[in-house]
Amino acid sequence: MLRTPILVASRSAQVRTAVTHAPVTRSVVRRFVAGEATTDALAAVARLQADGLRVTLDHLGEDTLDAAAAGRTVQGYLTLLTALDDAGLARGAEVSVKLSAVGQAVPPSGTSPHGPALALDGVRRIAEAAYGCGARVNLDVEDHTTIDGMLAVLRDLRADFPDVGVAMQAMLRRTPGDLADLTGPGSRVRLVKGAYAEPDSVSVGDAAAVDLAYVRCMRLLLAGQGYPMLGTHDPRMIEIAGSLVEEFGRTPDSFEHQMLYGIRPDEQLRLRAEGRQVRVYVPYGTDWYGYLTRRLAERPANLLFFLRSLISR
Ligand code: FAD
Repeated sequence: MLRTPILVASRSAQVRTAVTHAPVTRSVVRRFVAGEATTDALAAVARLQADGLRVTLDHLGEDTLDAAAAGRTVQGYLTLLTALDDAGLARGAEVSVKLSAVGQAVPPSGTSPHGPALALDGVRRIAEAAYGCGARVNLDVEDHTTIDGMLAVLRDLRADFPDVGVAMQAMLRRTPGDLADLTGPGSRVRLVKGAYAEPDSVSVGDAAAVDLAYVRCMRLLLAGQGYPMLGTHDPRMIEIAGSLVEEFGRTPDSFEHQMLYGIRPDEQLRLRAEGRQVRVYVPYGTDWYGYLTRRLAERPANLLFFLRSLISR
């Protein structure tokens, strides 16, 4: 119930200033974000890999209208991939990229590349570096207005890097139709419920409707020939995934579970101990505001945790 108001309020400049300057914010951020520096990300990767978990790394940033900022994000990923490679941690790792962080919304200015062409160039450079060291790339899904552009970039990228992954949101009505083109051999798709405040015209409805849609989409992916990546912490969805995996005769190496850094870490280890592949989404960097507010909006308990820390100071 609180989700949409929190997501809407988070867009206000005053709320942003209040949250980013609150003295307690850092302790809350540390719960969901691995740290601000590349070395923090590396330390988290080493810990998770030692526990048998896979990783996908998000160099935090989104919604930039500035080509220079988009370039800095691309450079951040390139630095990260070099550091992962040097530390022997790159093989099997993945990076998750938001196209809005690498220029998808940058407006035209003179003859410089902008918009989707700029984003495609940036993510292509990231993919070249990732594939060069045994890592992979996934495109995060953002709000519904960006999806046609994201799928166009995905098609271009897959021509050269066929197993670039993509995230899809079950909460959008269009998703089953989009998935129909994404279940071929080797197609890596991360299914999530969806973290953005979407209008009724494009969304399937309330939480119960989103859960039903999630199951329907899981079924499409697990029945297909691709590599489903089930991004959810929801115990019911995980249990239903177990039944569908049996129904479709999926082997443990033909799909994976994914969860966010700091959320249900015991469940991550439990699934791994059962022989499932589990990948943890590890965000790091200084631009954590948008990521943090989506985590607070998802779960009232997270918001209470944040508010309690404010009061108890
Ligand atoms: P919910 O119905 O939200 O929660 C079910 C249960 O899970 C809760 O009762 C609680 O026990 C636990 N839980 C869920 N969220 C939290 C939390 N924040 N803190 C603590 N416990 C929690 N969304 C996008 O729109 N685009 C993306 O690219 C994207 N990538 C993602 C990648 C991964 C690996 C994951 C796991 C999620 C991603 N999301 C993305 C977020 C996703 O859309 C959901 O908003 C988020 O996962 C919460 O939904 P849920 O399926 O976990 O279930």
